[in-house]
Amino acid sequence: MGFELFKSTICPECGNPLSVCRDPGRDGWFQVQEDTCYAKKAMDEHTSDKTYKPQPGQVIYPVLEEGSSEQATSYGANPFAD
Ligand SMILES: [Zn+2]
Repeated sequence: MGFELFKSTICPECGNPLSVCRDPGRDGWFQVQEDTCYAKKAMDEHTSDKTYKPQPGQVIYPVLEEGSSEQATSYGANPFAD
């Protein structure tokens, strides 16, 4: 299966297979879970700042602060640790 064909079977909203999340027979089967992506949090805080004004073509993305890769994680092994 090609990647484009695969992508066409995945819901762009929730990432589940369309055959699952768009099936009326599964209405009520889903729960909502909350979690925090701290990289997205940093991005949201940056872009919601009153002084933030995106420039044409500007790309912004989260990067780990220097030295933060050694800190422990409660999410299992730190993939950035040496
Ligand atoms: Zn969906």
